[in-house]
Amino acid sequence: MTLVPLEPAMWGVDEGPTTGPKYRRRDDYRSAKAALQDRLLERAEIALGPFRDRIVYVESATPLTQERYTRSTAGSSYGLAHAPDAVGPLRPGYATEIPGLFLVGANAPGGHGIAGVMAGGLAAAGQVLGEDLSSSVMEGQRVLASDVVPPDGPDFDPYETARGVAMMDRRAEGRERRAARKADLG
Ligand SMILES: Cc1cc2nc3c(=O)[nH]c(=O)nc-3n(C[C@H](O)[C@H](O)[C@H](O)COP(=O)(O)OP(=O)(O)OC[C@H]3O[C@@H](n4cnc5c(N)ncnc54)[C@H](O)[C@@H]3O)c2cc1C
Repeated sequence: MTLVPLEPAMWGVDEGPTTGPKYRRRDDYRSAKAALQDRLLERAEIALGPFRDRIVYVESATPLTQERYTRSTAGSSYGLAHAPDAVGPLRPGYATEIPGLFLVGANAPGGHGIAGVMAGGLAAAGQVLGEDLSSSVMEGQRVLASDVVPPDGPDFDPYETARGVAMMDRRAEGRERRAARKADLG
């Protein structure tokens, strides 16, 4: 990871993906992204030694990617700004004015990062249950019977799941069903 400019113009577009046109296949964007990726690999090789010839897959993301996928302002990857008036209890709480609606994640009081969102999730679950789960966990207590979470099936592949392949398959099936229905009707 590295710090990069957030302005869309730096990535070859006039506006971010929330309001702007599609950018992913634009030459300016692709070359800016490739240049950044190259520089990161160069720096990594200075620290770790040459390894490029062993790379089998490489992917990189820019602030535009982050904005497109999470709708975060200016491509921020860490949620709400960590300004003095927007940290900890000054953020929106876990419980909301709507009964049964709770907020979790990087924008909640627990903050961003894996540890922050895990701690926040625990605090939110505690509020749902009316228990202090965070203290129970810190004391090493088991708070969930292990059989409550079903095991992953034998075909579960975390890599394929993360890539959304299962979702793409389901969408393709849906398209086929719709096409068949249309053919039946027409
Ligand atoms: C490049 C990068 C590197 C990072 N490295 C680190 C690190 O080394 N250590 C660290 O502690 N933190 C790191 N972070 C920060 C950390 O990943 C985040 O703070 C954390 O994942 C935020 O958790 P979250 O649950 O709020 O959101 P996410 O992890 O983004 O989870 C939100 C989930 O909701 C899903 N979703 C979105 N919309 C919908 C919808 N409409 N319906 C259903 N599901 C939906 C998304 O697919 C996603 O799975 C990194 C972040 C980035 C971007």
